[in-house]
Amino acid sequence: MAKIALAIHGGAGTILKSEMTAELEKEYRGGLENALRTGWDILSKNGSSLDAVEAAVVELENFPLFNAGRGSVFTHEGKNELDASIMDGKNLRAGAVAFVKNVKNPVKLARLVMEKTEHIMLGGEGANEFARQMNVEFAPDEYFFTEHRYLQLMKAIKANRIQLDHADEMENDTENPKSKIQNPKSLGTVGAVACDSNGNLAAATSTGGMTNKKFGRIGDTPIIGAGTYAENATCAVSCTGHGEFFMLGATAFDVSARMKYKNLSLEEAAQETINYQTEIGGEGGLIAVDKLGNIALPFNSDGMYRGFIQADGMITISIYRN
Ligand code: ASP
Repeated sequence: MAKIALAIHGGAGTILKSEMTAELEKEYRGGLENALRTGWDILSKNGSSLDAVEAAVVELENFPLFNAGRGSVFTHEGKNELDASIMDGKNLRAGAVAFVKNVKNPVKLARLVMEKTEHIMLGGEGANEFARQMNVEFAPDEYFFTEHRYLQLMKAIKANRIQLDHADEMENDTENPKSKIQNPKSLGTVGAVACDSNGNLAAATSTGGMTNKKFGRIGDTPIIGAGTYAENATCAVSCTGHGEFFMLGATAFDVSARMKYKNLSLEEAAQETINYQTEIGGEGGLIAVDKLGNIALPFNSDGMYRGFIQADGMITISIYRN
């Protein structure tokens, strides 16, 4: 019997203790703990890693402080356009949706794409039409309206900038050759990775993308190999970070490839992948699990909302670097 393990994230970025109130931190911790318990409940009853990551991400999507599902950031037009993906490491099957609107839990729709179609990614109006045919739950615009996101949009529009999640300021790194891509202050996608008692791995990721995004911008989250990847032989990975760079690094697949081609441990491969992101100017982090139930949670930002449970059943939740 394999050692079960579950890890989740709620985004990475400039998350500083000095800027956090005790109450808000408690809320974030509560949201993470609830998602961990939900996923763990499934794994500990010999449920599948696929069910566990989906259930954990649903909880995170329903929690208004994270940038996914209910708490998603606003586009320039004041709408919510959601991206999500899921992958089953047992059989290399995957599903993803991009640019969907009013779908309460995009990760559920991604799973339906995997299971009910012969495709991997559906986008835009077609994905919404598929959602209607599958009878998934829709929610009105008001459900996705959170005041802090709206204020973020107003600020971003005023400053004429596009930004990720809680970023109140954008930092442009002039040393960086790709500095035309602005660096966000904070990111807030959600994700989960798990190893079940049969040693099967799975990963899922969900996001609202960037505040004030325009023209149908899509990030790494729904792209298999960039934001999400799972393969039993190596690992399951879910990323959070500046999507443009995470796409350039094929980041989630990169961890798996380093394990496979270089024979690295999960920890080493995951750290090398984040080192590469640092090299090319990408800010963020990832969570990863292997078939032995090892977990790695590297990031190069100031903080990352993260938590995990391993075979001993102990919950660990962290936010800051130390
Ligand atoms: N990776 C996401 C995106 O670029 C953002 C995030 O991780 O918060 O859309």
